[in-house]
Amino acid sequence: MTGHMGDKARMIVHNLAMMSPDCRIYDVKKENMKYFIPDTLVQAKKEGFVMCEQCKETTNRISQND
Ligand SMILES: [Zn+2]
Repeated sequence: MTGHMGDKARMIVHNLAMMSPDCRIYDVKKENMKYFIPDTLVQAKKEGFVMCEQCKETTNRISQND
């Protein structure tokens, strides 16, 4: 199962479990999609990607409700 998808055009990484419609991941071109091994945010950051603001907001919202 894939947890993260990088967008090489914008150098951001989406958390597929947390993504919102604002992420527009369907607009990401296939050639710009990047998957990580291991599939973690840490690995994505190591490769120069930053967390998507929309995914981050969703993550924060969920943890606040907890
Ligand atoms: Zn996102």
